[in-house]
Amino acid sequence: MQKLGKNLGGYHGETIDIRAVLGDVKAAAPAHGWDSEVFHKINDLDLFAFHRKSEAKNPKPPAARIYISAGIHGDEPAGPLAALKLIQVNRWPENAEIFLLPCLNPVGFTLNQRTNADSIDLNRDYRDPQAAETRAHIAWLERQPQFDLYLCLHEDWESHGFYLYEQNPDNKISFAEKMIEAVKKVCPIDPSEIIEDRPAQNGIIRPNISPHERPLWPEALWLITQKSRQGYTLEAPSDFPLATRVDALVAAVNVALNF
Ligand SMILES: [Zn+2]
Repeated sequence: MQKLGKNLGGYHGETIDIRAVLGDVKAAAPAHGWDSEVFHKINDLDLFAFHRKSEAKNPKPPAARIYISAGIHGDEPAGPLAALKLIQVNRWPENAEIFLLPCLNPVGFTLNQRTNADSIDLNRDYRDPQAAETRAHIAWLERQPQFDLYLCLHEDWESHGFYLYEQNPDNKISFAEKMIEAVKKVCPIDPSEIIEDRPAQNGIIRPNISPHERPLWPEALWLITQKSRQGYTLEAPSDFPLATRVDALVAAVNVALNF
């Protein structure tokens, strides 16, 4: 599979109608047992959180709590489409509680730009939040229980294939290699030894981070310091066909769901 060669200096591939995509999410979710909450509104666009309880009766061990977010960058359409596909396919572990936020930056999608309308990169705004979207998201997060796992769905317009970041400070059983194996069947993996200025191996970046030395926090740093002890930022390569990127993100998420 070859790169499309469209992304010269930024994302120039297919775009989505975010209102239509979120309309489809809203239509599909209740039929599959999801509760939804609008936790912020910007003009006529809603920021949604969807929640799905464990179906296990008297679960032992307790249900795993898994958090999945997408659409924080408005030029990365595969994330919200992957969230929609996951809801439509409706294949979830019986003993898991899922928190799914399909689009954290809907205004960015209406502009096909990474940032929100005020040119704030929301994924650098979690240490000292300035944007209304980030503040509302953190306020929502603070009302939730701890998560066993977080998954942040992204795309990278420059990459040569799929890659991921792992945060796993307690050395729990890693999903990283299995995710790469699963994604490899549907999408190329970025073979680069340096990705985004960090050492990478077979599409896996395990960054050495000192959150308190970093002035600008992505969502994942907030999550790993406040809410979870393991998580993955999944990066689909956006110079490949959109359907391939959606399949790549869904394949990686399914590994985390133990399928
Ligand atoms: Zn991104």
